[in-house]
Amino acid sequence: MNITKTIENLKKNNMETFLVKTKEEAKALALSLIPEGAVCASGGSVTLKECAIVEAIKMGNYTYLDRNDPNLSNEEKEQMVLRAQMCDVYLSSSNAITEDGELYNVDGNSNRVSNLLFGPKNVIIVAGTNKIVKDLDEAVYRVKTIAAPLNCKRLGCDTYCAKEGKCVSLVFGGNMPKGCNSDGRICVNYTVMSRQRKKDRVKIILVEQDLGY
Ligand code: SF4
Repeated sequence: MNITKTIENLKKNNMETFLVKTKEEAKALALSLIPEGAVCASGGSVTLKECAIVEAIKMGNYTYLDRNDPNLSNEEKEQMVLRAQMCDVYLSSSNAITEDGELYNVDGNSNRVSNLLFGPKNVIIVAGTNKIVKDLDEAVYRVKTIAAPLNCKRLGCDTYCAKEGKCVSLVFGGNMPKGCNSDGRICVNYTVMSRQRKKDRVKIILVEQDLGY
């Protein structure tokens, strides 16, 4: 894994990138990048949870659009997800980051990938260096063998990978959109973020720790 090359190429792709050593530093840096009073939202992310970033936002001088608030009705939750598309700062992790400077993300409901691509004024990605892969083939393989199986297990999705620890369509170097026929499938839409037109709309905080899946 070549961290220096990854950072150089992410920057070349107009995504400002920072490297920190710990999740505590990642939290402090993420908060420093969010303007006071900003309307924030986030994708479901084990990494953000491990860094306690959402909790800090909730306690800070920001408005957090919390689609998981247990007091909301289903309709209100849907409204919250839609409002997140126009928020000031959207936070997420990434399923894989290539040394060529691309972000690879796979989503089921797809509100997360939708917001990463377009809508929120700013996007902050927090990811452990364990998410760095050589290229897109490795990114696809990583999702099929690590990210999707562990997330399916965490979310209680009835999929082949949740039981077997790998995708039903596992082939290195191909088969990106092939998968299971489960209603709980989380691999629905596949996105690659390469060179961005809006410079530094996407900011990436790489953490020299293993975080998330
Ligand atoms: S397509 Fe299905 S089996 Fe394959 S990784 Fe995704 S959820 Fe798991």
